[in-house]
Amino acid sequence: MSQSNLQPSTSTNLVDLGDVKFDNRFVRGLPGDPETGNGSRQVSNACYTHVEPTPVKAPRLLAWADPVGEMLGIARPNCSTGLEAQVLAGNGILPGMQPYAARYGGHQFGQWAGQLGDGRAITLGEVLCPDGIHRELQLKGAGRTPYSRTADGRAVLRSSVREFLCSEAMHYLGVPTTRALSLVATGEAVVRDMFYNGNPQAEPGAVVCRVAPSFVRFGNFEIFAAHGELELLKRLADHVISEHFAELRLPRAMADSIVPSPSLDRATYARWFEEICRRTGVLIAHWMRVGFVHGVMNTDNMSILGLTIDYGPYGWLEGFDLHWTPNTTDAHGRRYCFGNQPRIAQWNLIRLANALAPLIADEAALEHGLTVFATTYEQTWRSMLGDKLGLVALGHEGDEALLADLFELLQQVETDMTLFFRGLMNIPVDGAFETIDRAGGEAALAGMLRGAFYDEAQALAPEHRARLGSWLRRYVARTRLDGQGVLDGRVAVSTSARYERMRLANPKYVLRNYLAQQAIEALERDDATVIERLMDVLRNPYDEQPEHDELANRRPEWARNKAGCSALSCSS
Ligand code: AMP
Ligand code: MG
Repeated sequence: MSQSNLQPSTSTNLVDLGDVKFDNRFVRGLPGDPETGNGSRQVSNACYTHVEPTPVKAPRLLAWADPVGEMLGIARPNCSTGLEAQVLAGNGILPGMQPYAARYGGHQFGQWAGQLGDGRAITLGEVLCPDGIHRELQLKGAGRTPYSRTADGRAVLRSSVREFLCSEAMHYLGVPTTRALSLVATGEAVVRDMFYNGNPQAEPGAVVCRVAPSFVRFGNFEIFAAHGELELLKRLADHVISEHFAELRLPRAMADSIVPSPSLDRATYARWFEEICRRTGVLIAHWMRVGFVHGVMNTDNMSILGLTIDYGPYGWLEGFDLHWTPNTTDAHGRRYCFGNQPRIAQWNLIRLANALAPLIADEAALEHGLTVFATTYEQTWRSMLGDKLGLVALGHEGDEALLADLFELLQQVETDMTLFFRGLMNIPVDGAFETIDRAGGEAALAGMLRGAFYDEAQALAPEHRARLGSWLRRYVARTRLDGQGVLDGRVAVSTSARYERMRLANPKYVLRNYLAQQAIEALERDDATVIERLMDVLRNPYDEQPEHDELANRRPEWARNKAGCSALSCSS
């Protein structure tokens, strides 16, 4: 950490990590594997395995997220190599911690992959936070577990920086996500063949401490269903519902009078599945709104709480392209490309429905849940699209054509998604629009969005500017149907309400792939200033922050085909 970062936090009531109280409900409430030890093996009849992190050579705290520390009630460490760095690298277990690796399976790229599990993630314990919510501290890259298969249990610095930065960026964009407390360098090298092309290299290793109320995935349920461990399936479902979906349980007195045993009934499981479907629908709509592509939407990377989880070869859309995938492993099939994310989420929910079928035993209820996903996604996405365009409600005559033409335009020439929508916000919809149109015609109209185009000459050439200009005229006319700009020849409603709505739906700053890469390269040279500035800016992604304008620019040409900036592998 840089000097500026070593100042003690000013918030009161924060305690040192060493004094945190743990309350480990997952381990206490669910059956663990009787075997210990971190040798790779198949585990059965257990939700998790007790396993300790493997110590590393020289832990050093590189970054710390104050807001996450405050959420947990933990004070910022005042030394980058002290107890906190040791514990958050896995070199020490504090009293009250009960480290474990979770057992789960999953469908990867459409195929059942059998046992996966936490192969390099180890939960240290659950903190009862000042807001009354339990949250797990989970180290990623903390060494081998029984679920590591042939891999090393470690993580490289580059992928750890990407996870640390993106979980925080997503949170401040308003996207449901796991969080990240700390980033610690291990002082050890990790060997990775970054592009699987026979070029293994030693890279610096790191450990991220992730934070979430639960890291349970669809795959935690799938493994029990696949192995016929139905008692465990029920126990895990009951645990997740009572700890994380308590509102779905009937009040005890009422439940007792309906079902004789205190165990949950089928209707509760069905409502729970429906709620998972609803949350997943909201989650994916957010991803589409901000242009986030997860890159590996396997069922083991789908959170039961509807959070974005497991940041790997994710990427941010720069040029708007429904077929874009950041993941080189996915480049051929494009299963996980931007435009497929809603369809894949539904496919994954069907896998979860199959796993939960023994509990719910009601095909119609499962079908209903899947319908709830589709309608939630559709409604949320449309409402977000309305906000992104500054339209009060979509559904006017001509809106479908307006949207279809927009998405076609965006894909005709390479158009930066973030900059286009943010630029649209600044287009006047009052009489100033006509003044610009009269003075300069379509060239002037299209020119208002010039910053969003990767090839300005192409975008402003006569054919494209004519299409864009005429779309903008239709768009401005449409905003006026909502009473914005000019109504009946008079300026009716202030445009500031439209501006505000659009501003809050269209971030100015996103974690562009090349920005993350610059932060990584600086940290590899021991320079933390780049990551710190980026973290600060990304905490207010909807604010103008004019002093940081350059971080909002379109991707520079040098980054177009640079490794880490445009294409990423699963190697991490
Ligand atoms: P992912 O593609 O990151 O979601 O990982 C899929 C599975 O591989 C999970 O079970 C991970 O725990 C495991 N895994 C990924 N990388 C490693 C690693 N370096 N060491 C051990 N297990 C790993
Ligand atoms: Mg994963």
